[in-house]
Amino acid sequence: MKVVYGLHQLILEGTFREFPVVGLVGDRVVHGKIDELERKPEANGTASHAIYLSDCKTRGWPHLPPPRDTVSGRVQLMVYKELFDALLVPSTMTGPKVETGHDAAEKDNADILPTSHTSVFDQIFEKFHLHPDAPFSSSCLRDYQRSIGSVLDEDLNPSRAKTLGDLVVLWDAYTAKLGLGQRDATHRVTSSPVLKIVYRGSKPMQGKPTGSIIGESRFTHNRLWLSEHLAWALDYWSGTRDPVGVGRATASTCDNCEFFQDCEWR
Ligand code: SF4
Repeated sequence: MKVVYGLHQLILEGTFREFPVVGLVGDRVVHGKIDELERKPEANGTASHAIYLSDCKTRGWPHLPPPRDTVSGRVQLMVYKELFDALLVPSTMTGPKVETGHDAAEKDNADILPTSHTSVFDQIFEKFHLHPDAPFSSSCLRDYQRSIGSVLDEDLNPSRAKTLGDLVVLWDAYTAKLGLGQRDATHRVTSSPVLKIVYRGSKPMQGKPTGSIIGESRFTHNRLWLSEHLAWALDYWSGTRDPVGVGRATASTCDNCEFFQDCEWR
């Protein structure tokens, strides 16, 4: 429900914070909140606008972290982009995977990525045994009407949604209004590959108040790197490989580790 409201606000205001996303990474359900979405006019082919994702991190030092300490932040934002882009695929799009121009080298791990599949909603409904045609309960409907109450859109009339299936139709209609270009069975639209992490001070520093911007880091979405990293991480969480200690270059992270005293890798 909030995602529909978020898209409405994104179209109306050009920005939305704390945008919820959900989807499958491998066979695991992953959800999170994108710190900020921005929609900017940007003509490109059939597209009139582009959408940019950004995340915010706080730091106790008045400088940007070295690249080796930004891996988790970059992975997080790339996963959010994958989850968001997967939600942009029209629910009526069926059949085999959509051609997205992926590098052949991705193939081994590509199934891990949310955008490697069609219809994320079908996947989620199946995973949680949800019936898209079942009517919302009265309390669910009341919550929905409350959250969507301020949304006035005569074309789409979001207050008419009475089932999950209705919400998916509504979501599709809003995504078509984003202006990201033509969507059909062979062409999917995505958010911008340029991602941004903004670092803010967690305390007053150098005469500036808490929350002041220290700097920002921009990087490009990399499906191959992400799919390899996620495959490596999921191997640990599924018990198919042993954990490994941090390398020499990142040994400073051990300073705050609760396993420091007994660590076998140090
Ligand atoms: S102390 Fe050991 S477990 Fe903790 S971060 Fe360092 S290598 Fe990893």
